[in-house]
Amino acid sequence: MNILKQTALNLFENSLAKQGTVLAIRTWYPATFYEVDFHFPFMDMSKWDRVQHIKIKVGPGVYRDYTPAGWDVETRTCTLYIDAVQAGPGSEWVQSLKQGDNVTYVGVGSTMHKPAEQGKMIAFGDMTTIGHYLALQQLAGGKSLSGAIAIAEENHRIEFAEYFNWDITPVEQTDQGGFHGITKWVQDKDLENATVYVAGHIPTCVHLKKELKKTSADTIRVQGFWS
Ligand SMILES: Cc1cc2nc3c(=O)[nH]c(=O)nc-3n(C[C@H](O)[C@H](O)[C@H](O)COP(=O)(O)OP(=O)(O)OC[C@H]3O[C@@H](n4cnc5c(N)ncnc54)[C@H](O)[C@@H]3O)c2cc1C
Repeated sequence: MNILKQTALNLFENSLAKQGTVLAIRTWYPATFYEVDFHFPFMDMSKWDRVQHIKIKVGPGVYRDYTPAGWDVETRTCTLYIDAVQAGPGSEWVQSLKQGDNVTYVGVGSTMHKPAEQGKMIAFGDMTTIGHYLALQQLAGGKSLSGAIAIAEENHRIEFAEYFNWDITPVEQTDQGGFHGITKWVQDKDLENATVYVAGHIPTCVHLKKELKKTSADTIRVQGFWS
């Protein structure tokens, strides 16, 4: 990185950056999926009415978005659910984290997803969306969220089913974003009056939206994550 870019980046970080601390890490088996509990003392979570995302520093001048779930307004703690199956700075960062580490983030922003006021809520995505839909479920309170999340590893599907007391089905992921597993799940489902949430791999979100438009779903809300 040249000196001008480094100076601009330092100014940007100095004005916006805030710190958090890693409280605990749980690793799924195989170790390509991580749940990380954080304390973010400067994060006011009290007004969150949509699913949020945090821009975290994962390397010098490198930032990645992750979704806070299971937040507690009083203690300012939350959990990030991070897929690290790919080779990338974000994946390397999460694999290197230890309890007690300090992390830097430069902002929290809202996504397009908030609970539907009426009708069923149905969610689709890949493993990067687990935290996103846990957050949507938290905002929806007692209102149930169903749907399908595509997961490639059989043991991750088992852990998902055992760990979450949730009406979301872990389906086998046989392509990059889970399109086939999810469309197979949709085949015998009634989407009448449903608000359908689609997130994750961007090309899959586009294809899913096209398919879902052929159903009786009321509203389709898409939030692309990665491509
Ligand atoms: C609003 C928002 C919220 C997000 N929340 C989360 C979250 O809670 N948890 C989470 O895990 N991710 C989340 N993401 C996605 C995450 O920011 C990206 O997947 C990120 O690119 C991963 O960074 P990386 O440095 O590991 O890989 P990159 O350097 O960005 O990518 C390296 C290569 O891997 C591919 N790739 C990227 N991600 C995946 C993947 N998951 N599976 C397979 N291949 C991949 C890319 O296409 C690229 O070829 C979110 C993204 C957005 C926009």
